[in-house]
Amino acid sequence: MTSASSGPARTLPARITVLSGGVGGARFIQGVLRLIERSGADTAVTVIANTGDDIWLHGLKVCPDLDTVMYTLGDGIDTERGWGRTGETWHAKEELAAYGVEPTWFGLGDKDLATHLVRTQMLDAGYPLSAVTEALCRRWQPGVRLLPMSDDRIETHVVIDDPDTDERRAVHFQEYWIRHQANVPAHAVVQIGADEATPGPGVLEAITDTDLVILPPSNPVVSVGAILAVPGVRDALAGTPAPVYGVSGIVGDDHVRGMARQLLGIIGVEVSAAAVAEHYGARANGGVIDGWLVDTVDAGAVARIEAAGIKANAVPLMMTDHDATADMVTALLDLAGL
Ligand code: GDP
Ligand code: CA
Repeated sequence: MTSASSGPARTLPARITVLSGGVGGARFIQGVLRLIERSGADTAVTVIANTGDDIWLHGLKVCPDLDTVMYTLGDGIDTERGWGRTGETWHAKEELAAYGVEPTWFGLGDKDLATHLVRTQMLDAGYPLSAVTEALCRRWQPGVRLLPMSDDRIETHVVIDDPDTDERRAVHFQEYWIRHQANVPAHAVVQIGADEATPGPGVLEAITDTDLVILPPSNPVVSVGAILAVPGVRDALAGTPAPVYGVSGIVGDDHVRGMARQLLGIIGVEVSAAAVAEHYGARANGGVIDGWLVDTVDAGAVARIEAAGIKANAVPLMMTDHDATADMVTALLDLAGL
């Protein structure tokens, strides 16, 4: 299928690897798949997904970013919410609340619950998360190889001033994000367990044995940042012969959706497309990217990014539909000279 904006078909890299969070990453990958479809290429896409958002709830293992990627690419996502299942109902959540069982703030849908039940059962039976994810994907057929960043438990926590107790304490990222809506004073972001974790099966190989690595507009702190915290991932990015290119999720000095602004503030990174590029850093200077796309409204930032040793270009970065997103991927390939 082609669109008015698709341009001529082009030769695509045979293998592309994407480091993804949830909603932003999944929508970007839809654009990658659209471009592959438009080009008639048989590019193999591997997605390394953040598992730092994972949480145990009511005895169940919930993996928000893995599921968002799986449901989005498998056509099961609620497109308006951006997460969870289409046609979802909330009876179990209401019943749990009626029993007074905490937490009540997490959106646990009835259909979604089945995924968490299957996952937890398999984990209890001894399967690693990577094998469980592969099994779940047999149903959803996402059209990509979906790899959790690690099979080990890594949880992103945020140090906040707890409004209930007036005390400073670390809470699970989901509590900061959903319960507090990122609207409480916060002081640090920590990936608990990351130091002792190992990358999931195939993760390092997907970075080193590929033709292009893409950092989508996913949250640089809690999505891509968590993946980078897994020991070995930074070194793999530094050493891979493949080019590593990123797309800014910050447009006009704010996030497009979500709460990246608040999280960048916590880690002391200015909220701008250029500052996020500098935060990732040029591979030539010990960082993780070779190039960076900013939105046209941030065209003035290109010179600053190039001064940091990172190739840059300004193009429209709004993922309004799959074709618009595919055009972003084309611009990224152009910048990479692919
Ligand atoms: P999450 O795990 O569900 O929060 O999703 P991700 O971390 O993968 O992506 C969230 C990021 O995507 C946010 O920081 C947004 O600013 C960014 N984002 C969402 N939609 C768009 C878009 O249309 N264009 C760009 N450039 N960024 C976007
Ligand atoms: Ca997430």
